[in-house]
Amino acid sequence: MISGTRELFKKYSLNTYTRTGPVFIKGKGSWLWDSQCKRYLDLFPGWGVSILGHCHPRIVKIINEQSKRLIHLPNNLFFREQVDLAREIVKSSFPSKVFFANSGAEAVEGAIKVSRIYGMAKKRYEIIVMKDSFHGRTFGALSATGQKKYKDPFKPVLQSFKEARLNDLSSVKKKTTDKTVAVLLELIQGEGGVNVASKEFITDLYNYCKMRSLLFIVDEVQTGMGRTGKLFSYQYYSIKPDIMLLSKGLGAGIPISAMVVSEDIAGLMKPGMHASTFGGSPFVCRVAKEVFSVIKEERILANVNKMSGYLFNSLRKLKEKFPEIKGLRGMGLMAGIELNFKAYHFVAGALKRGLIINATHENIIRIMPALNVTLKELELGIKIIESVLRRK
Ligand SMILES: *Cc1c(COP(=O)(O)O)cnc(C)c1O
Repeated sequence: MISGTRELFKKYSLNTYTRTGPVFIKGKGSWLWDSQCKRYLDLFPGWGVSILGHCHPRIVKIINEQSKRLIHLPNNLFFREQVDLAREIVKSSFPSKVFFANSGAEAVEGAIKVSRIYGMAKKRYEIIVMKDSFHGRTFGALSATGQKKYKDPFKPVLQSFKEARLNDLSSVKKKTTDKTVAVLLELIQGEGGVNVASKEFITDLYNYCKMRSLLFIVDEVQTGMGRTGKLFSYQYYSIKPDIMLLSKGLGAGIPISAMVVSEDIAGLMKPGMHASTFGGSPFVCRVAKEVFSVIKEERILANVNKMSGYLFNSLRKLKEKFPEIKGLRGMGLMAGIELNFKAYHFVAGALKRGLIINATHENIIRIMPALNVTLKELELGIKIIESVLRRK
């Protein structure tokens, strides 16, 4: 049954993904097993989605329980699970109201719509985005993404997004017009190569936005839910976003996203303006609520900070040893290693040695382990990375 999986993909699956490696059949924590029962250390579980590792027992348990009680209800009915999760998010962030959708891109779409409503009276609708950003593949989110390679095949994309540069306030000022309504950015660009926004830039940008009444929208789809060592990465900066977008880790593997809209502007959205059939169902919300509980009760943020120290120390040591490593970037358990050769080969070499990591932006290796990864697992990962560098 399992033999022939590649052929079946080729025959039946729309060819939008580059797939490589073995066929995986199960996972536990930071480990995956393939159909030959070979074990792999997964230091990039689900592209940042599986923050509690694969099949965390408490997530498995709550999925079981909730699936027996109530799975889906439409959003014209009242049910407890959705507001319990919304309250959890608001209590751990800033005074706000929450809209639930199903994917990161959809959360971005929501933010674009809120910006339109916010700017309507003064005919403002342009959103400033950053070069090398990534906001998803739906048409609005794609248009907001600052990378030509994703947009060019689908030209013309929406014209209301203006591209500035991260950590360069003057580029933002240059792109501001009397039609500008918002700035949308990731505080650490993930897909764009793990580029960290500087404190100075964010403080200045935030003040600039306040001065001009521009919405400050943070896309925390990748950086949120503890990835950087705080629950949300904006908490490293002295700012309060007008809109925060969450997805990836929010459901620890269950598809869910959230648009968190500051109390000051939440009233702009009226019944009928936005909706999602699947958004915020009892099932996904109960699971995401459990993710928050696990993060607290298993002291996940403390682990992120401890493991981050070890990870970046080890990477720095590797950088001293190997001139092939040109740079290190990141925060918490989000690390980018810039190589002086194509990262794709590196990832393939690691996979052969039983390690799953990711390549982005041609020459950057990305490591985003589960947030409950252990020291032993990271040590093994570093050892394998070193052995791949040796054989280069
Ligand atoms: C992954 C990602 C998205 C898109 O999420 P999807 O669930 O694939 O739509 C948007 N923004 C950021 C920052 C991301 O990392």
